[in-house]
Order: sequence, then structure tokens, then C-alpha cells
Amino acid sequence: MKPQQALRRLAARYGRQQAWWPAAHTFKVVIGALLVQQTRWVQVEQSLAALRAQSLLRPELLADVDLQRLAELIRPSGFNHQKSARLRRIAGWWQAQGGYPALSRWTTPDLRGALLGQSGVGPETADAILLYGFNRPVFVVDAYLRRLQQRLAGRTDGDNGDQALARQWLAACDHDVERCRQAHALVVIHGQRNCRPKPDCRGCPLQPGCSYAGSSILARR
Ligand code: SF4
Repeated sequence: MKPQQALRRLAARYGRQQAWWPAAHTFKVVIGALLVQQTRWVQVEQSLAALRAQSLLRPELLADVDLQRLAELIRPSGFNHQKSARLRRIAGWWQAQGGYPALSRWTTPDLRGALLGQSGVGPETADAILLYGFNRPVFVVDAYLRRLQQRLAGRTDGDNGDQALARQWLAACDHDVERCRQAHALVVIHGQRNCRPKPDCRGCPLQPGCSYAGSSILARR
């Protein structure tokens, strides 16, 4: 099944998804994207609230904060010493580049490359920052999408596989930012409800065109 068809069926099943990071300023998206690694969003919200209370969502203040104090504030997100060092470093980089007004003028490949050069920022985090923070049309390739695609059609592993996957799903969204956000949310919700590590294929709207479901049915005959 092609991504476009899968997205149509997922949209029909789950409807319009609430915006992630609604009305968040870009640097808050950066902070959230780093904090959410290896933890749940509910934990991140506690850390963000603590940072907000101390005005530390502002990069110019975060760049100079005492590391021990920062680690205490973001303790709910886990790995707090590692994450506090990363946050302070990226805040310093952000400031040195001239902040959002300057960075927003960079091309998407340049911005992605620079983000990938930051400690703790891998492709998934960089693409989430680009999509949700900088409103750039990119598709976030995460574990949910890899698993779904592998089951729908099969694909090769590795970095080239991720790049091809991103191109394919981005094209299915017509390179439109809002569609990419909706599609990402739909893939995540489907990965949490049906297409889990042990999939529940009963009633899945993608079942008629899914290789995995087809081979499971054949194996049972
Ligand atoms: S049919 Fe099963 S394996 Fe295929 S997409 Fe749906 S839940 Fe995943």
C-alpha cells in the first residue's frame, strides 16, 4: 500500500489530530525535542513548567544558567545531567547564530546540518525541530514509521532506507507542512493503538493492503 492511501485511511479512522506544540515558540520546541528523548511527554511537561517558572525557556538566560540548577529543574525528564549540558550548549549555539531571526533565514539543508552537529540531536530530533519549530516541510522518520512501512511493504534498513522513507512520505504529503504534521501524528497514534510491536491487525484500516497481515493470514491457512 502506498503512503498516500495509508494516510487517507488513517485520517478516516482517527480524524484530524490536535497540533503538537501548538503556538510554541521555536526555541521551546528545541528544548522539548531534547527533553523528550527516552522519556514520556508528561515528564517533559513538568520540566518545561519548571523552566518557564524560572524564565529559562529564553535561550539568552539558558545559555548562562548554572548546570547543577538546570539539572535539578529538568530532573522529571530523566538523564538530567546529560540533558542539562546539551540544553545549555544548544542555547549558546542558538545565541551565537543570532537566534530565530537569523536561523529562520537558513535553508532547510543548512539548518538540518547545523542541528545535527549539536550534541544529542540525531535525525529524528532535527527533523522534529524543523517541522514543528521552523515550519519546514520535512517528514519525521521515527520507530513508528519504520515499523509501519516495514509491515506495509517491506524496506531495506539503514540510513539510506530512512532517507528514502522520508522522501516517499513527504511526497505523499505534497511537501506541505501541515499535512506532514498531521501524517506524523496519525502514524504515531496508529503505532500506539494497532501497529504496536506485537500488532493488533483486527479491524486495522490498513489490513487489506498490508504485506504483514497478508502473510499472517496465509500462514494460518
Ligand atoms: S494490518 Fe497489522 S501489521 Fe498491518 S498496518 Fe495494520 S496493525 Fe500494522
